[in-house]
Amino acid sequence: FDDTQKGVVEFRNVSYRYPGAEEDAIKDITFKAEPGKTTAIIGSTGSGKSTLVNLIPRFYDATEGQVLVDGVDVRDVKQHDLREKIGYVPQKISLFKGTVMSNIKFGNENATDEEVKKAAEVAQAAEFIERLPNGYDSEISQDATNISGGQKQRLSIARALVKKAEIYIFDESFSALDFKTDRALRKALKEYTENSTVIIVAQRISTIMNADQIIVLDDGKIAGIGTHEEL
Ligand code: ATP
Ligand code: MG
Repeated sequence: FDDTQKGVVEFRNVSYRYPGAEEDAIKDITFKAEPGKTTAIIGSTGSGKSTLVNLIPRFYDATEGQVLVDGVDVRDVKQHDLREKIGYVPQKISLFKGTVMSNIKFGNENATDEEVKKAAEVAQAAEFIERLPNGYDSEISQDATNISGGQKQRLSIARALVKKAEIYIFDESFSALDFKTDRALRKALKEYTENSTVIIVAQRISTIMNADQIIVLDDGKIAGIGTHEEL
């Protein structure tokens, strides 16, 4: 990696086509996401938001163009080194049967209990966790059927935050939160991720209004890019 950069994500004319598909899911995407800044990605369902962000941790590779992290093509980086830089909250959250503590620590096995609690606070999860019968030692059932959708999202966010990553990706991670929680979370997140690159996929305008850069996807293409005022 170029050591003068930490967490810079750059897409250069990136297209991606799923194997067997007749059309590119994303087409000729070019943008740069920088440390200390929030990049929001919006667009209707199927417009390619998840496909785009999934290229960063290399769940698959660009069909055309280049994805660079800190100036290096992600294909030239050891997967372990790449993933270590990234805190990722997938759109399809998966928690496992185990305690709340172990579910959050899954993001960073070396995290101290204090660090887990801090991540939970930022994720607006601490309050409901402390109200559970056994607090952080409470059991999450298989498929997390014993907690709500919004609680699952917040645990999953805490799991990503406990990692202290250079790049955070949140794919529809705030969609089940009420407006008040969403706002409190974004405020805490801003402080916690101060020097990191934050990429937020969202539908709700209020979630992304204050982003430094908003990318509007339409049918896999960038239909607009700029701040909320500019768009
Ligand atoms: P949503 O808001 O519903 O999450 P999205 O903007 O994240 O949508 P993507 O999931 O990136 O959209 O999908 C973009 C396009 O790629 C869609 O046409 C979708 O059908 C297609 N697609 C997504 N995943 C796959 C896959 N695993 N195999 C084939 N095609 C896929
Ligand atoms: Mg998606």
